[in-house]
Amino acid sequence: MKYCTLAEHAYHPKKPDKIYAMNQAAQAAAEKDGPDAVINATLGNCIDDAGKAMILPTVDRLFRQLPSTELYSYAPITGVEGFTQAVATSLFGDWRPNCHFRAIPTPGGCGALRHLVWNFLDSGEPLLSSDWCWNPYRNICEEHGRLFTTFQLFTEQGTFNHSAFAAAVEEQLKNHDALVVLLNTPGHNPTGYRITPDEMGQIAAIIRENAVRSGKRITVCLDFSYIDYALLEREAQKMVECFQAMPENTMLTAVFSMSKSFTMPGIRCGALAAFAQTEEAAEEFQNTMAYSSRSVWSNTVRPAQRVLVDICEDPRLFKAAGEERRIFAETIIRRGERFMAEAASRGLACCPYSSGFFVSVPCREPAALAQELMAQNVFVVPLQQGIRVSVCSTHTDKCVRAAAIIAETCHRLNL
Ligand code: PLP
Repeated sequence: MKYCTLAEHAYHPKKPDKIYAMNQAAQAAAEKDGPDAVINATLGNCIDDAGKAMILPTVDRLFRQLPSTELYSYAPITGVEGFTQAVATSLFGDWRPNCHFRAIPTPGGCGALRHLVWNFLDSGEPLLSSDWCWNPYRNICEEHGRLFTTFQLFTEQGTFNHSAFAAAVEEQLKNHDALVVLLNTPGHNPTGYRITPDEMGQIAAIIRENAVRSGKRITVCLDFSYIDYALLEREAQKMVECFQAMPENTMLTAVFSMSKSFTMPGIRCGALAAFAQTEEAAEEFQNTMAYSSRSVWSNTVRPAQRVLVDICEDPRLFKAAGEERRIFAETIIRRGERFMAEAASRGLACCPYSSGFFVSVPCREPAALAQELMAQNVFVVPLQQGIRVSVCSTHTDKCVRAAAIIAETCHRLNL
């Protein structure tokens, strides 16, 4: 007898959490063999080479100094005063997009993705992302009764696969009245790939052409969660500028995450931003998102919003936080590059890495490879098409060691 009254759609059997399980195994190994003998490249937590969590000192100081009223009070559903401008400053510095920009606060980038999936698609309509992608994209779609679909991200040469992308867009629009395209760049999770401005220009052209031809609704969402760790000048601006003069039946949106940019993953704040072509569309976006927020989580964590606005409105604080973050980003990118160099020197093919918290190694049997590596005290996350190695949490020397061990294991077992 099943004493449970869950609705049919809500029932989900317990699934093992691969990342958690791998991390647990790594911790047990470290207890047994000592921490130096274990490479734990499982989690997305940023840890520096001295073993300290990467937390921006400016954020930590401001957060701890907040008065009780800021710490504990409700925030307005559309954000504390200055929220939209603060998100714009965080993403673009002093540049502003030539449109009607709005940002609605959400619990992390995850909340922004939820709002995107629910509010820009009707039941059963598709969200298109890349085959290598952050797994929760799929879960969020499934949870909300939307179709999750993918295209092959890379060409043989490791560049953006525009023909696969165009074919997938066309195919989805043949069968549906609306489409959301979700692309994570730069510092793509899990590969570290960056879509170049040239590549994004061609993506925009494909969207434009399909929107005109089909007359159907297309929403593009750029997931900028890792953008501040790419150390690229005006990256968000370059990406957004690709989408100038788009047809009326398209909209550009973006995911912003304080978890990464402001090192506050536990304080849960991010935003869904929209680049509307008219003030009316911007208002409609804001009102709709506010209704959705009200109906799901109400308002969003106030102290995080306060910290964001205080930093972004004060050029001195903004510069200080940026400089602190640059040191973190340099460490993470250096690890990624050292991993890639070691892998290349040993003939191990990896997904193209440019920045970001993870590198990925494609392989035929990811679960078997992860298992083999575990036996050598190297802990990684098996994905569908390969393994993910977290360089944000792994000491630089261990990243190099990991590359050598992964290369040797792949060659030896032909995985
Ligand atoms: N998007 C991507 C690609 C991510 O990897 C993550 C988190 O790891 C998020 C969005 C959302 O993160 P959060 O909800 O913590 O802001």
